[in-house]
Amino acid sequence: MIIGSGCAGHTAALYTARAKLEPLVIEGHEPGGQLSLTTLVENFPGFPEGIQGPELIANMRRQAERFGAEYQLAHVTAADLSSNPFTLKVGKDTIQTRTLIIASGASARWLGLPNEQALIGHGVSSCATCDGFFFSGKDIAVIGGGDSAMEEALFLTRFATKVSLIHRRDEFRASKIMLDRARQHDKIAFITNTVVEDVHDPSKKEVTGLTLRNVQTGKTSQLPVSAMFLGIGHIPNAKIFEGQLDMDQDGYLKTTNNVFTKVPGVYACGDVQDRRYRQAITAAGSGCMAALEVEKFLEEHTGK
Ligand code: NAP
Repeated sequence: MIIGSGCAGHTAALYTARAKLEPLVIEGHEPGGQLSLTTLVENFPGFPEGIQGPELIANMRRQAERFGAEYQLAHVTAADLSSNPFTLKVGKDTIQTRTLIIASGASARWLGLPNEQALIGHGVSSCATCDGFFFSGKDIAVIGGGDSAMEEALFLTRFATKVSLIHRRDEFRASKIMLDRARQHDKIAFITNTVVEDVHDPSKKEVTGLTLRNVQTGKTSQLPVSAMFLGIGHIPNAKIFEGQLDMDQDGYLKTTNNVFTKVPGVYACGDVQDRRYRQAITAAGSGCMAALEVEKFLEEHTGK
């Protein structure tokens, strides 16, 4: 059984299906994962002209289905990994499995503004590497005060005329070196003690600017920008494994040798265990590794 239908889950499904292991993929709340939220993907090898994220993920699924992978549009709400076969609660059903691949990903944290969701893929993004290129010669805003925000802001200076880094406090979680690098960059302007109140303009299907509010003075202002990049962190989707699998302080699953969890037969791949690379291609790679380990495990334990 595979939890998650992003790049890692589909790749694990493809490999286990071709090994005739009859994988069942539980798609989760965000079928297709983060790729389904992006537009043009230009850094997945094999597509010299690029490919739309939703198309790439749909292709991966079709490819796995061709070899017999089954998909269920459902969500895993509980897991008991204390004995093999493992028991998982999926909607109203209980499913048992000898091996489990956790590819449940990480969800970008959003601000929660009503217009924000409507503009995802149209100027609102949580991935500078994916979408920065589309805003060459434009003014861009980055939200956040951690390393992700600094990294996004620095990366976006390659394209933007100006990057406004907006942070709700005037102290930063970012490491000193990243913060200094961003502060010293002449294209980056810091706007501190400030929150985004609104993002415009869904009726035009593009970002035209932000309404900002200074949290100390209460004063609001308008900032014309063509894109808003969120760098306010990701939330790994691993909560149901709390107490059963090792996690770091932010809830990412800890793995050894890339995909092994501490429970034999349970493997984790993709963004749920990777806070460092977080790329489609690295997720696909680790999905492949998890599938090969499942094959080995079943061979050793059941002779299948
Ligand atoms: P983070 O360190 O948790 O920082 C998140 C930032 O977003 C904080 O500044 C936080 O503000 C802000 N924030 C959170 N929710 C917000 C909201 N609703 N509205 C406005 N602002 C909000 O997350 P991260 O930057 O993704 O980093 C996560 C981990 O990965 C860190 O350990 C980091 O060092 C690491 N990382 C390392 C690198 C690198 O070394 N190259 C790159 C990226 C990430 P407050 O400070 O006010 O809470």
